[in-house]
Parts: sequence; C-alpha cells; structure tokens
Amino acid sequence: MKPHGTQLSLFETRSLSDPFAVRVSPRARRLTARVHVGGRVEIVVPVGVNAHAVRDFVQRFTPWIDRKVAAMRCFVAPAEPVPPSIAFAFTGEQLAVEWRRGPSRRLERHADRLVLQAPDDSAARMLLQSWLKAAAEERLAPRLLELADELKYSVARVRIRCQRTRWGSCSTRGTVSLNCSLVFLRPEVVRYLFIHELAHTKHMNHSASFWRLVEKIEPDYRRLDRELLAGWRTVPAWVFKN
Ligand SMILES: [Zn+2]
Repeated sequence: MKPHGTQLSLFETRSLSDPFAVRVSPRARRLTARVHVGGRVEIVVPVGVNAHAVRDFVQRFTPWIDRKVAAMRCFVAPAEPVPPSIAFAFTGEQLAVEWRRGPSRRLERHADRLVLQAPDDSAARMLLQSWLKAAAEERLAPRLLELADELKYSVARVRIRCQRTRWGSCSTRGTVSLNCSLVFLRPEVVRYLFIHELAHTKHMNHSASFWRLVEKIEPDYRRLDRELLAGWRTVPAWVFKN
C-alpha cells in the first residue's frame, strides 16, 4: 500500500530502526501487530482509527514487537533446499532424508528414512512440505481431540495450516487451526498451545478471564508461552521457503 501520513509519523516514534507497514483493513476490528518470518512488522488498523491511536498502540507494544522481531529474525537461516534430516521434538522421531534427482515426484517413508525423488530443488521441497502437513495432521489432531475430550471442550474441526505468523487460532464455530510446525516443538509446549486454543473457544480474546482459565488448566503457562514464542527459532527454514 502507498505510504501515507500515518505511516510516516509511526516511523518517527518507533525505537525500531526497521521499516514496517501499516495496513488498513475493513475486516479488522481492533489494532493488531503482526510479525512475519524474517522480522517484517505489519500493523493492521481497522477503518476509521486515527494516526494518534495507532501511534499509541505501537508505542505501548514496542517491547513486545521488538522481542518478536528478534525471535522471527533468528529464524531465517540460509536454507538448504532439502534438509539431510528431520527431527520432530513432539514425537521424538528422527528421520534421515535421502533425496535423488529423477523424473518422477515420489516420497516414501522407510522406518527412519524419507526417500525422496524429484526433478529439482523446488519440487523436492514442495513434496517435503506437503508430507510435513500430512504428518503434522496425523500427529497433532488426535492429541488435540484427546485433550479436548479430557478437559470437556468441544472442537468442531481441526485444520492444519503452515502459516508463517501463528502457532494456532480458533474460530467462533469451534474450528481450531494448528500450525504444521508445532511438530518441531516439545510436547509440553504443544499441549500449552492446545490449551490456549481450547480456552479461546470460551473466550475469543486475551482478557483476564481468558488467562485465568488457561492458568487453571496449566499453572505454568507463562513459561510455556515464552517457549512457544521462541519456538519459531527451532523451525527449519525449508518449511516456509517457496
Ligand atoms: Zn490467543
């Protein structure tokens, strides 16, 4: 979007030297800051919110944004097209990846190896990415449903997405979306994210009542929430590279 007054005045007030974008969204109901992989910051602004309110918001959340930018930045390492191995902290699985160039596109799992055939780097990576999505669904969805059952929450649907910005989200209709990269995190941290999203089926916000509910189920949620945020660093770069 074109730079305008709001954006220029924001540049002056941020302590961060990085440029960031302001996007006015007709769908947004409140001000939000999004930090993308690599550290790009985007402030999403509902229609009709003035520059002053945006500036206040950015100032108030600067420490949070800076922390998140640092986390998201570490995460960008020069990517090998296909990694030599894949480790899922969630399940403890360690898989060697064997990649051969060839005319067909094929991916097979043999015990602790993934055998991959593809004509070029990007085809190989795409195969691996779609395998990851399916593998994540197989491992994460049943565990979320189990936990929901145990805690007496209802989940209408589980979706696996490979977003760059969020570990999970929850819709008013009870669809919980989980990031495929959760398989790279420890089970305890993933369980916390599950609890976080389940609590959102009761409170669609981060109000005090929301956090009280989270705390009731997981008293150690603060530590786990920090680990979750830092978790972007443990996600290998090939997951998102196009
Ligand atoms: Zn939340």
